[in-house]
Amino acid sequence: MPQNPLLSDWTTPFELPPFADIKPDHFTEAFEKAMAEGRAEVDAIADQQTEPTFENTIVALEKAGETLSRVARTFFNLSGAHTNPELQAIERDIAPKLAKHSSETLLNGVLFDRIAALWDKKDDLGLNEEEARVLERYHKMFQRAGAGLEANDKSRMAEISQRLATLGTSFSQNVLKDEADYQLVLETEEDRAGLPDFLLAAAEEAARERGLNGKHVITLSRSSIEPFLQFSSNRALREEAFKAWSARGENGGDTDNRAIVAETIGLRAEKAKLLGFDTFADFKLDDTMAKTPQAVRDLLMKVWQPAVKRAAEEEAKLADMARSEGGNFKIAPWDWRYYSEKVRKAEHDLDEAEIKPYLQLDRVIAAAFDTAHRLFGLNFEEKKGLPVYHPDVRVFEVTDRDGKHVGLFLGDYFARPSKRSGAWMSAFRSQHRLKGDVSPIIVNVMNFSKGAPGEATLLTFDDANTLFHEFGHALHGLLSNVTYPIISGTSVARDFVELPSQLYEHWLSRPEVLSRYAVHYRTGEPMPKDLLDKLLAAENFNQGFATVEYTACALVDLEVHLLTDTDKLDVTAYERQALAKIGMPEAITMRHRVPHFAHAFAGDGYSAGYYSYMWSEVMDADAFGAFEEAGDIFHKETAERLYTHIYSAGGRPDPEETYKAFRGRAPKIDALLEKRGLAAA
Ligand SMILES: [Zn+2]
Repeated sequence: MPQNPLLSDWTTPFELPPFADIKPDHFTEAFEKAMAEGRAEVDAIADQQTEPTFENTIVALEKAGETLSRVARTFFNLSGAHTNPELQAIERDIAPKLAKHSSETLLNGVLFDRIAALWDKKDDLGLNEEEARVLERYHKMFQRAGAGLEANDKSRMAEISQRLATLGTSFSQNVLKDEADYQLVLETEEDRAGLPDFLLAAAEEAARERGLNGKHVITLSRSSIEPFLQFSSNRALREEAFKAWSARGENGGDTDNRAIVAETIGLRAEKAKLLGFDTFADFKLDDTMAKTPQAVRDLLMKVWQPAVKRAAEEEAKLADMARSEGGNFKIAPWDWRYYSEKVRKAEHDLDEAEIKPYLQLDRVIAAAFDTAHRLFGLNFEEKKGLPVYHPDVRVFEVTDRDGKHVGLFLGDYFARPSKRSGAWMSAFRSQHRLKGDVSPIIVNVMNFSKGAPGEATLLTFDDANTLFHEFGHALHGLLSNVTYPIISGTSVARDFVELPSQLYEHWLSRPEVLSRYAVHYRTGEPMPKDLLDKLLAAENFNQGFATVEYTACALVDLEVHLLTDTDKLDVTAYERQALAKIGMPEAITMRHRVPHFAHAFAGDGYSAGYYSYMWSEVMDADAFGAFEEAGDIFHKETAERLYTHIYSAGGRPDPEETYKAFRGRAPKIDALLEKRGLAAA
């Protein structure tokens, strides 16, 4: 049998995974061997007879498990961005095994004793700032996994982790299946009424990909369904499509996520209790900037009240607009985007279909690269012919001011049925210096509707913002300049990690960037100044809606993770009650309803953590002010401080301290309220 490519040395350019040689089967064997190898390495560290030192324990742990990390990163990047039934079966099988493997390390008492001994004498070890932080992270990670518990509790913790891994995998696969199974075929003129050219072209392309040549298909991908809801004048179809979108994970049968969510919440609560916390939210927040549920609620409620008020004003205008066209109904969730588009046109003389021809994907990518060049001196050069996992993936080599290699950036921009929804950044390899200079390989994954063959892909302004957002995360990974993997790049507090990404969005909305890169895809003409002005003037438009749909999610995510009694939890009923309690407007739904709320339930990542975007936004709105105050959005010294304290620092510094080091003071919430147009007049 030929060598398993996952277990051989990678001789590919830049040591990219040799995707063409990797078959799904290879993962099963590779995971098993890599886990065994990692287990032996960790056991050897735990069982040393010598006194624990930083070098023989922490550094050794940082170096252990390299094969497993390489296999797992390759696997999970594929399972998110380009999966298939074989990979999905492997994922269901491997997720609990990986959780077990991880528990065996984190619950190893002998190993924890070594770490705890180091922690007890941390001040006498002569550690530098970064080493001290790494030791603290290790101690905390083991403690939070239950390393200090009694034997019985430890085995229960391990069971819970495995079960949660299985539940998270199923949750995610169910949502993907519900999305892939749905298509709205637009058969007649009436079905297509109101749709602009760009959407018809994208719908034709989506149909072609599904073997329905010559037809038009709307999918549940955000970049397909949202413009449909925005432009379709066929109210019945809008309702049908919206309901399908909203019901993902709640359709009964095999892909229904409600029982999965209930069990997940129960197990999380139990885990928190074992670790000595009142609730899962208390446990989760203990290791963040926010620290407590009350601090999170305080922040969210500061924006919730003005947002609901603003949304009511917006709704009244939508209702007027509907009435003026003879529509005598209360605005429903499937009406909001449609009438809001009309009101925007009336109030700001601004039409999404008019903007879109100026937002070509390639030019927006170029704008993101150029901004990184002007801020941080980075250069991006596309490399053809490198190994990729799908022909749509593009690879760029990133170099610094002096032409030195920084890393690789992969861009995977188009929606397809094998990709989960949303947009994200991930790493095939993280930067560190523990085994020589290891450079990062970072990927951005998006779900844009692809233009027809030979035609440019056109973005909405929201899409372009998403691209800048994820590219901000990518820079956080690419610019990382640390020694230890555990604090590399985006390995920072959950409510700090959205700062580099959200901050980056600010540059897109500046005329200095937009006027250079927004050019018409047919004529090459730059966006007319009055259109640009109108676009920027309309930035606060519909912010009541946007803030409500987001904040409702963040509040429900918090509340549901404060539950202690989850027996017979009916998640749909719970969601309804929780929304009623905060006075959710009927015409708006949560941005992600609980049965498909992947941030909270497809894994542990953003559970009791969806508020993080708002927490980070307090900082990003405030941080951009530093450039505005300097009178130059590419101000050299400010950009240098940004590089030093935020983008290159990884998890080395304390987040609060490093923010202050950049800004010269703690963040204020004023800029956020102003940015969203919610500041008291
Ligand atoms: Zn983000």
